[in-house]
Amino acid sequence: MNDHFYQSVSVLNGIGEEKEKELQQIGLETVFDLLQHFPYRYENHEVQPIEQLRHDDRVTISGVVQTEAAVRYFGKKKSRMMIRLVVENILVSAVFFNRAFLKNKINRGDTVTLTGKWDKHKLTITVQDFKQGEPDPTKQLEAVYSVGGSITVKQMRRFIQTTLQMYAEYIPENMPASILSAYKLPLRSEAYWSIHCPKNKEELKHARRRLVYEELLLFQLKMQAFKRQERLSKSGMSHRFDEDKVNDFIHQLPFSLTNAQLRVTQEIMKDMTDSLKMNRLLQGDVGSGKTVVASVAMYAAYLSGNQSALMVPTEILAEQHFEALRDLFREGNVNISLLTGSVKGKTRRLRNESIENGETDIVVGTHALIQEDVKFKHLGLVITDEQHRFGVTQRRTLQEKGYDPDVLFMTATPIPRTLAISVFGDMDVSAIDELPAGRKPVETYWVKHDMLERILRFIEKQVDQGRQAYVICPLIEESETLDVQNAIDVHAQLQQFFVRHHVGLMHGRLTTEEKEQVMDSFSSNKIQILVSTTVVEVGVNVPNATTMLIYDADRFGLSQLHQLRGRVGRAQYQSYCVLMADPKGETGQERMKIMQETEDGFALSEKDLELRGPGDFFGSKQSGLPDFKIADVVHDHKALETARQDAAAMIKSEAFWRDQTYAGLRQYLENSGVLDGQKLD
Ligand code: ADP
Ligand code: MG
Repeated sequence: MNDHFYQSVSVLNGIGEEKEKELQQIGLETVFDLLQHFPYRYENHEVQPIEQLRHDDRVTISGVVQTEAAVRYFGKKKSRMMIRLVVENILVSAVFFNRAFLKNKINRGDTVTLTGKWDKHKLTITVQDFKQGEPDPTKQLEAVYSVGGSITVKQMRRFIQTTLQMYAEYIPENMPASILSAYKLPLRSEAYWSIHCPKNKEELKHARRRLVYEELLLFQLKMQAFKRQERLSKSGMSHRFDEDKVNDFIHQLPFSLTNAQLRVTQEIMKDMTDSLKMNRLLQGDVGSGKTVVASVAMYAAYLSGNQSALMVPTEILAEQHFEALRDLFREGNVNISLLTGSVKGKTRRLRNESIENGETDIVVGTHALIQEDVKFKHLGLVITDEQHRFGVTQRRTLQEKGYDPDVLFMTATPIPRTLAISVFGDMDVSAIDELPAGRKPVETYWVKHDMLERILRFIEKQVDQGRQAYVICPLIEESETLDVQNAIDVHAQLQQFFVRHHVGLMHGRLTTEEKEQVMDSFSSNKIQILVSTTVVEVGVNVPNATTMLIYDADRFGLSQLHQLRGRVGRAQYQSYCVLMADPKGETGQERMKIMQETEDGFALSEKDLELRGPGDFFGSKQSGLPDFKIADVVHDHKALETARQDAAAMIKSEAFWRDQTYAGLRQYLENSGVLDGQKLD
């Protein structure tokens, strides 16, 4: 891209100071920004046969005028004009509001093209757009842009067309000719023309294909070049430990690791001993035993004389991991410490000291771990659990505390491969794709709310057999207060029902001590039935709990339901998950059925992706999902995979770094700063 493209939009005719400001406000500062302001949809002015027109659709028809225009006025400004025309031998009415000035332009015998809202029953079009003559076959599709301020879509079209006329021919081609011909992609400058002013659907399709591929390829190149650069420049932490001791540790565990756990452990060990920096994503369904794998890694770090940090999203989870690790490291001299927001005052100071002077080997904690006052002596390994809940910045902060530790991200949200790659393209991915032996699948039932009493009787039976149950309360979007109120109501109701048992209550408004107390009582079976908001979603482990009832289950995403369901079925007992829902729409029903039929978290996440889009996985922008201008990771996942493979091959090849055909792509990498080891954003 030469400098022309980075000039302010004000170089264009018709863009004065005011418009310039308004364009800036919607992020369009330069000429290139305008070129890249892609339409979000197209008006279809294609003329379709009358019988195919749908009621209330915006349509375009063309025919011969049969009558003089008849105008009726209402007051001074308002008018209604009607003409009749013949379209495909059918007599059709056209109504114009407040456009009586057209009266003299329309004469009997004229051919006209009209666009507007179609009334199928009255065979009438309410005209929005009028044109003399036959429809123009090159203007069937008209771009519609997002706009802001006083700028109209029409103006935006004009700005962009002016830009194209002045600059399109100078848009440099950045793809090697071999790629263009292999995928039959149009040239870059052509694609820019066609995406804004497509002559027809076919041309639009190819333009989009080209621009999507380009965007994804550049993204993948950036990711992979970054990864390569990091590998070349930084020598990461190289842990030295006695593998026999690690194996001893594995053998003294109360169970034997699954093959998947062993394989993944191997992958991690290799990364750790290697002098390259580990940057690995560990995916594993709920209950697949990621925590144990993490403990092996932390043990290895300990053997090599390094500290580890395990960062989790909630205090409950931190407590639980802390307990679990203390259990796993019962024998030996591994010092484990807990650091959360509620560890304060003197205790906090002491724990910080012990971390700073190296007495503490493993720290488990929440975000508190990345506060200013926490300093490690020699941090060698950072593990984050449920990493999708951490912002990118938080992860970085910990890494940037002056250390260059190996990094392992664990997640129980089985992110579909396509997304994992696009979001975590600079990481290696390991998956635990096998559950420990002897687990029985959780039986899942979808019922209507009027079954509540029967379900409660069922829970009662389970509890009478010594088991425990979760009751998850309706989720009310965007309102924690209402969620809490719901939980309180349900709790009161269930206390009346379960007179012989203890019903506990858990929600986000409780203090940490209160939460801890409730969890302790539930773990030790002093509480048999736990009513809760989704606070229990992540990682909570009470193996004696066998039944989960979820109110208004259709309000949750499939992945979230799966997470919740993962709280039961953690021991040898048959477990049950009851989804109570009266979904209105078809998708709602389909989702409930899918939950009944599918136990596989990966399959569910693919489905979720299909039904709800990627938002459900990553919540918000800061989650790390790249903000593409034209590509859509869900819709374009095939292109994403192709681009990933192509980028990998290019980066690896010598030709890429040398040949003229790749100059455009190399230039892009240079401009984006990746080659100087700058951060990726
Ligand atoms: P995750 O974090 O992946 O959801 P956890 O590590 O919490 O899973 O493990 C779930 C439960 O299964 C824990 O109680 C753990 O002790 C147990 N577990 C882990 N690995 C095995 C195994 N290989 N065999 C039997 N039980 C296991
Ligand atoms: Mg876990």
